[in-house]
Order: sequence, then structure tokens, then C-alpha cells
Amino acid sequence: MRYFFLRFPGGKTKAVTLSYDDGCRDDIRMADTISKYGLKCTFNLTANPAMTKEEIQEHILDKGHEIAVHGAQHRAEGLQRPAAGIKDVLDCRLYLEKTFDRIIRGMAYPDSGITRFGNGTSYETVKQYLSDLGIVYSRTLAGDNNKFELPTDWHAWMPTAHHKNPQIMEYIKEFVELDIDGSYGARRYPRLFYIWGHSFEFERDENWELLDEIAEAISGKEDTWYATNMEIYAYVEAYHALVFSADETKIYNPTLHAVWLNIDGVTYTVKPGETIIVTEG
Ligand SMILES: [Zn+2]
Repeated sequence: MRYFFLRFPGGKTKAVTLSYDDGCRDDIRMADTISKYGLKCTFNLTANPAMTKEEIQEHILDKGHEIAVHGAQHRAEGLQRPAAGIKDVLDCRLYLEKTFDRIIRGMAYPDSGITRFGNGTSYETVKQYLSDLGIVYSRTLAGDNNKFELPTDWHAWMPTAHHKNPQIMEYIKEFVELDIDGSYGARRYPRLFYIWGHSFEFERDENWELLDEIAEAISGKEDTWYATNMEIYAYVEAYHALVFSADETKIYNPTLHAVWLNIDGVTYTVKPGETIIVTEG
């Protein structure tokens, strides 16, 4: 019997992602700043972003960032009747896909999201209709923690912290100092640092230097993959799609992603379509 742990592309043990909401004009400065550091962000937009289509293309999409659904009219899923919730998500998805000519399956819950419920809606209802609408993950909020774990439920993806969390720099220090491959046995699981917020908060709070401070502390690490929310989702799903023989010595990759994994301390790569033989361990 062996321990199997996901490794991110290149065999990296950690990943960092950002998620910023509402499509305000400060997203331009935000995107320009984090692009310098090589960080990747998912910008969650309504059907009425304050940036032009050209600005979103130039500052966000062309720089390797991503856009995702945030409700056409920014309505909390938990407090709307299901039909209204469905309409708000579908309208937003249709608008973004048509305007930016791409498939968009990611989302961040607007307003109070799934933190409270009423009007006949439950989490199970919301999760079901998001799945039916082709939304594969959605970010929630208000559960800041320093566990750095990958989500167990993609439709309730809890971030690590809001950038205004007073402990954010401590969390980052703890994260970057983790030696995961050097840890014992079951402690070798991968870690994710997920930061969220609104770029207008840096403008309103007059603390854009905090963004630089965060970016400087968390960027440029050899053991870390910097990726958008959807890139992380797609990669983790590819890892979960690996096929194992019963004795765990053969691993087949039926996906179009090269997948890395750590088996009892040894890192392996399984290329698309390939079957590897696990010899060590
Ligand atoms: Zn919002």
C-alpha cells in the first residue's frame, strides 16, 4: 500500500490563485500589478462590468488571467427563488461567453451567496442548478483559515483568506515555509493558497501597497504553481481521472493533461494517454 498525492504541473507541491469580484475599473490596476509578479487571478464579472470589452481583453485575458460568472445582476443565490437564481447565473454566463467568445464554467457567488438561505432555496438546490447550468465550481466566502487545502466541494470553494484578513501575511509566511516533499507520510498532501477580494477596496482603503506586499511575499517560488481558478479545477479533475490497477503498480492517464503525482516520496509524471509502471516504493 502506498500514499498517492497530487502534484501540480512540473511536480510542484503548492499552488496560488486569486479571485476578485465585480468588474470595477480598479481591476485594471490590480491586473497590471499582479501580472508583473506572475500571479494569476480569476476576475468575476456581472453582465455590466465597468471596464470596456477591450480593456478586459488587454489587461485581463491577454495577460493569462481569466473571467468568470458573478451573476448578471449580482443576486445572492441563497435568497432568491430558484427560478430567479437560475436566470441570474444563466444570463451572466450567456453574456460573458458571447461577449468574450469563449466557454466560461467558473463562478464566484455574488452578495451573501450561500451564506444564508430563504424563499425556498437550499444549498442542495443551488448546487444542483449550478451543475445543470454547466457551472463546475463556485467560490464562497467568510471561512478564512490557514489549512491551505484543495476544496472537497467545488460548489462551496472556500478561499484561504480575504486580502484584508489581519493575519494574511502570517498565513503567507506559514505557506511559503512549508516543506511538503520533506514532510512525513500523510503530511505530503498538496497545498493551495487562495486570496479573494475586490480591487476597489485597495483604492477605497488607500492601501495598494498591501497588494504589492502580498504579491512580493507569495510570488516567484520554485515549488509553487500560479494559476487561475479554472486551471486548478481542470488540473485537479485530471488527477482524479487517473486509472489505477488493483495492485497500484499501473497508472493510466485518459485525459489531455500531463499529470504529476507523488507516490511514497517519489514524483512521477503520467503523460496524456500514457500508462506508467510504479517501480519504487
Ligand atoms: Zn460581488
